[in-house]
Amino acid sequence: MKKSRPIVMSFSGNDPTGGAGIQADIEAAASMGARIAPVITALTVQDTQNVKYFSATDAKLLIEQARVILEDMPIAVFKVGMVGSIENINAIHTILHDYHEIPVIVDPIISAGGGMSLASEEMSLAYSDLIFPFTNLVTPNSNEVRLLAPEADSLDACAQELMDDGCEYVLLTGTHESTEQVINTFYGHHRKIEASCWTRLPNSYHGSGCTLTSAIAGLVACGESIPDAVSIAQEYSWQSLVDGYQSGMGQYHPDRFSWTENWTKFERNGAEKTYSIKTADQTKN
Ligand code: PLP
Repeated sequence: MKKSRPIVMSFSGNDPTGGAGIQADIEAAASMGARIAPVITALTVQDTQNVKYFSATDAKLLIEQARVILEDMPIAVFKVGMVGSIENINAIHTILHDYHEIPVIVDPIISAGGGMSLASEEMSLAYSDLIFPFTNLVTPNSNEVRLLAPEADSLDACAQELMDDGCEYVLLTGTHESTEQVINTFYGHHRKIEASCWTRLPNSYHGSGCTLTSAIAGLVACGESIPDAVSIAQEYSWQSLVDGYQSGMGQYHPDRFSWTENWTKFERNGAEKTYSIKTADQTKN
């Protein structure tokens, strides 16, 4: 019998634009060779400009979704994205507590790129007590980390505070800072490990954080260490933004499958039939 791909259980919201949320998780983890077991935390109403509103999944339903799968399938990694409500943070806490041997990668979603708040102040503060004690890697942007560690007086101090709360590693992304290049800083075990610089791209993107974090989760599920996964996933995510496109009238979406463009054809099980995948140029003809 063929072995299953490594499975990441993703707690995530649905974004009907397909740019962020669970669809981003599925595409990024699949690109790394893993697959997602999707546990939906919230339904959002949004277009490519902003989130209009959302409704959180009932916490009991959330726990049931997760527990039924956890009793059936081997989960290699938990990925936590948009949580939807304080009740859902409590629900996710009980799962992380009961399955504490499974690595946990957290993208703390506090607000949408268009500005709409996706987590209350009470929720941002609850991460410290309920989620971070189980977290192997957290990937906040600079705006998020300031809300998660409001007492800290510098970005380094914020990252330190998250590690004090229990996070083993922190990848702090710098898109929202006014630096010429985007500087992402990786911390671990109470130290700054490395800063990596990325050319700042001209557009505004939706789903970049979900792409990065789910690529890391997929790689860790496939056996990479967290530091290696962080470095490979940054390269992959940046390329998906370079290849990104505008599907609506607002923010750009990452192209998480642009790597498939090198496949002009593939053969299946040695069968004679050759399947062609259209390239962008062929589509224009
Ligand atoms: N998850 C959902 C369901 C969302 O709607 C959003 C933003 O709107 C996000 C995650 C965060 O997206 P990003 O990766 O751009 O931070």
